[in-house]
Amino acid sequence: MRQTLVVTGGAGFIGSALVRKLVRASRYHVVNIDMLTYAGSLENLAELENNDHHTFVQADVCDEQTMHMVFEKYAPIGVLHLAAESHVDRSLSGPAEFLRTNIMGTFSLLQAARRYYDSLSAEAKLKFRFHHISTDEVYGTLGDHGAFSETTPYAPNSPYSASKASSDHLVRAWHHSYGLPVVITNCSNNYGPFQFPEKLIPVTILKALRGEKIPVYGNGRNVRDWLYVDDHCSALMAVFENGRLGETYNVGCENDLPNLEVVQKICEILDVLSPKAGFKHESLISFVTDRAGHDFRYAIDASKISTELGWKPEAPFADRLKETVQWYLNNLSWCEKVTKKP
Ligand code: NAD
Repeated sequence: MRQTLVVTGGAGFIGSALVRKLVRASRYHVVNIDMLTYAGSLENLAELENNDHHTFVQADVCDEQTMHMVFEKYAPIGVLHLAAESHVDRSLSGPAEFLRTNIMGTFSLLQAARRYYDSLSAEAKLKFRFHHISTDEVYGTLGDHGAFSETTPYAPNSPYSASKASSDHLVRAWHHSYGLPVVITNCSNNYGPFQFPEKLIPVTILKALRGEKIPVYGNGRNVRDWLYVDDHCSALMAVFENGRLGETYNVGCENDLPNLEVVQKICEILDVLSPKAGFKHESLISFVTDRAGHDFRYAIDASKISTELGWKPEAPFADRLKETVQWYLNNLSWCEKVTKKP
């Protein structure tokens, strides 16, 4: 008998990878709540069409009543909350939606989960957990040295990271004030298939393929720790299933790279996978005005999750980046469909 999990944001990049993994793992029935904003698409879940172990519910996480109805109807053993507005640039030009979804949406979901949790038997209560999925960006920025640990003070610098930081604090408070069993993960930058073509890696691939300028912010020296999306999902499962309640776990893989280097690597891969005579994709790189308040460096100390839960990333960056580029080459029609969505 499969146990039921609720995943929010399961039609987005990381959420859909998680839902596919959970359903494939044959242990869970997944109830996937997603509003299908510009960033979410059922195209990401095509392989689960007609799969009895996946139920899709189109709904807004800010709608507390509907969230509660879903909990009552499907009686999940827990929820993994990924639904969010996730793109820093959009948060700079339109912060309101970030505050609505990321803060108020988390608040509504916490309230609905709490009401449901309070109604459970003592035995069911022991199994239930609310897993909040967050980002390393809540910690702000690093200089040339050091890494974020779970005790690094929060210092968010963008409307996106401030809204995620707020939601993390709400989750923590619902644990301490109301006894809701929660875990939180803060992860570094993800890459892989199905990432919406507005983030660095898909933008670079698609611009390069079209022969358009590849925009790189500032001098390209901003450093991010790039984690393959499936590794993030395995970390989420490790924390959901075995993490200690009330705890935060940082997730990262010590793959710290300047943005320019990531872009150059993609160009080199494209020179091989999609060669054009006498042309180097790197010649398309164009430095553009830096993002406002652009954090210089993120790096993660993931020793807690690795020591306590034995989680380790599997994917070597060079191989997975090549596979990711190949995935976009094979799925240009997906890119067109999701970007042209009304
Ligand atoms: P995404 O933008 O690809 O997907 C977000 C999903 O949430 C979409 O399917 C969207 O339709 C849905 N959604 C948005 N608003 C909603 C609402 N009000 N109600 C219901 N659904 C709504 O994001 P992602 O990159 O997959 O990130 C998922 C989560 O992981 C986010 O919480 C993000 O903060 C976190 N995270 C992302 C990264 C990364 O590198 N992408 C790294 C660390 C943490």
